[in-house]
Amino acid sequence: MRALAAPAGAALAQGAARCDILIKNGEVVDAGRGFRQRVDVAVLDGRIAALERNVPVAGASEVIDARGLLVVPGLIDLHTHCYHGATGLSVEADPIAARSGVTTWVDAGSFGSDQVAGFRRFVVTPQQVRIFGYIHLYPNLRNPDVDVVKYVRAEMRRTGEAAVANRDIVLGVKVYVGANMNGRYSLEFLKIAREIGDRFKLPLMAHVSFAPPETPEVMELMRSGDVVTHCFNTHTLGILDQAGKLKAGVKEARARGVLFDVGHGAGSFNFAVARRALDAGFPPDTISTDLYDVNVAGPVFDLPTTLSKFLYLGMSLEDVLMRATASPARVISRVPGLGTLEVGAPADISLLAIEDGQFQLVDSQKNAVTAAKRIVSRLTISRGRRLTTRL
Ligand SMILES: [Zn+2]
Repeated sequence: MRALAAPAGAALAQGAARCDILIKNGEVVDAGRGFRQRVDVAVLDGRIAALERNVPVAGASEVIDARGLLVVPGLIDLHTHCYHGATGLSVEADPIAARSGVTTWVDAGSFGSDQVAGFRRFVVTPQQVRIFGYIHLYPNLRNPDVDVVKYVRAEMRRTGEAAVANRDIVLGVKVYVGANMNGRYSLEFLKIAREIGDRFKLPLMAHVSFAPPETPEVMELMRSGDVVTHCFNTHTLGILDQAGKLKAGVKEARARGVLFDVGHGAGSFNFAVARRALDAGFPPDTISTDLYDVNVAGPVFDLPTTLSKFLYLGMSLEDVLMRATASPARVISRVPGLGTLEVGAPADISLLAIEDGQFQLVDSQKNAVTAAKRIVSRLTISRGRRLTTRL
């Protein structure tokens, strides 16, 4: 990652420079850098201009009092569905970002190779937040009369080329692996995705749900930089066996750089599985929602709610935030400084509160727990601009 732009920090600290937004009195938690301090944050021209104690308000166009709040890098949700319309599953990013602090969204395969132009023009460009996506390998597979493997194979080149041509917004290829998604073809489709990944040097995101195929067969086909999403599902194609032990190939996959993502969704996050995985020393690499219209009114709601579930399970605040800031930023790897609040980084900022009380949290199987703390978003700044819920 290249070096970030030089700051105007010293001049700001002396009150000699202007800034667009000054966030005062908050506690900055930049988990990726292990930074946790009570400092003011100055924003200028869409970037972090200074992180200093007691920056004078004189030169600030707008001052935000963040007393009692955490000031963290804008949250990044690695698995959402924010495409519009085509699947009938998608949500619109900006209004939800305004209330949830998520300034970077990754659409996990709601669109195919022939819909990337539409994704760019009608989804990525009009929204204030940053949006990236994985191309779905076989989006229009609805005709039972075609030879589906042949059909998907015929899509290979188009998919790879579309991903490469749109590298600035396309991260890789999404593939569903699970008997419930595409029956007996799952493993064949994953092998085709593997071929695309190798040929075009693209990472894969693999949805895992129900066997067959079996977990070791899937793990074998995953490479460094690939993402296994829905990693804490309670289905047969999961990472744990009946005894709560990691299945064959899972640890090895992580060791060679395969990433394990939560992708909560309406069916894919289970408290007991997550707890067993944490007990087995297997925390997720990234925490994401798999937000779409069927789960946005519960049990998922938003990313802060999903993060609260991991806080409840005993992960530290820093460990939780890391998995929704610096870690997914590394997977995206398109924007220098994304996922941090260092000087020069993009001014994507979330102001969060940790509330104390009794909060019911529900997993995908409707298991409810009562948490003593929850994370809520209080204010969202995207590209140096405050997002409002009236968009
Ligand atoms: Zn999804």
